Amino acid sequence: MSWEDNVRKVVPYTPGEQPKIKNIIKLNTNECPYPPAPEVRERLAAIDYDDFRLYPDPAASELVKALSDYYKVPEDQIFVGVGSDDVLAMAFLTFFNSDKPIFFPDITYSFYDVWADLFKIPYRQVPLDEEFRIVKEDYYGENGGVIFPNPNAPTGRLQSLDMIEDVIRHNRDVVVIIDEAYIDFGGKSCLELINKYDNLLVVQTSSKSRALAGMRIGYAFGNSKLIKYLMDAKYSFNSYTMNRPSIELGAASFANDGYFKDVCNRIIATRERVSPKLRELGFEFCESASNFVFVRHNRIPGKEIFQKLRERGIIVRRWNAERISEYLRISIGTDEQMDQLLMALSEIVG
Ligand SMILES: *Cc1c(COP(=O)(O)O)cnc(C)c1O
Repeated sequence: MSWEDNVRKVVPYTPGEQPKIKNIIKLNTNECPYPPAPEVRERLAAIDYDDFRLYPDPAASELVKALSDYYKVPEDQIFVGVGSDDVLAMAFLTFFNSDKPIFFPDITYSFYDVWADLFKIPYRQVPLDEEFRIVKEDYYGENGGVIFPNPNAPTGRLQSLDMIEDVIRHNRDVVVIIDEAYIDFGGKSCLELINKYDNLLVVQTSSKSRALAGMRIGYAFGNSKLIKYLMDAKYSFNSYTMNRPSIELGAASFANDGYFKDVCNRIIATRERVSPKLRELGFEFCESASNFVFVRHNRIPGKEIFQKLRERGIIVRRWNAERISEYLRISIGTDEQMDQLLMALSEIVG
């Protein structure tokens, strides 16, 4: 008998690399290539460092209020956390307590199976179809809960609101979580369904479309009862999760909707400009509704392209996993960055 027999052993999630070298083109973690709204900078300048002595507001009321005003959702239907990873982990802990497996796609955000393992939640990884679509009928069977991103990651594929609603309707006895980390890049949010279905939790983040990955701000919307259960779990775990600057700067980012929409539209425009050029170079991929494209070359192995890009100072993401080992996930950067990427790729595949 050893103390190690009683250790909770987990295989951790591998986050995308944050390289220490400067002057690289970083297209591997779907960060926003543009800065956050100018209001965030102004608010930053006004933060009083003397306040750092004091614990932050455990309810993060200022941020919750900003979210409530922006999304027109009552405050008691909003839960916030340290990035949506924190929100999602708390939701797994709170809502997925059945002996039946939770369902999520085989190709999806690679944190889901890690949380399921960590919390000892049984799960089934439901295969996407050949075109990387989620097949709604596959989610009709008995389960302990459902979660998937919309658009899905790393495929970038968007599912329709009708499809989402169909899945929720067939799963009224469990909680359905829709992870909308990338919804601002061309998709339609299912937020409007939270008052129709009390088992729906919609999760979003300021990390991608609001350019605040470094501040760790995520949120969930749902029925007030669902939110109350989440709060109870959170306050049983750690009350002061969000720090003062994150609460304040997160709230400030909602003050300028014009800037926000402009940034999203620029990223969408770059994606639409670059996509046909990638196809000309022999890359195959399904249409993306996110700030990345998930591509496979028709001739050259993904691993080889990944390494050759790296040698040229361009970092993208690749998984050594079944079905997707030939694929690269390329975040949409600035137009200049994408032009450099296209130039490097034409050398590599040319
Ligand atoms: C990036 C991402 C998240 C988590 O982002 P946070 O920075 O923790 O808010 C959650 N889900 C998906 C699908 C993501 O790609």
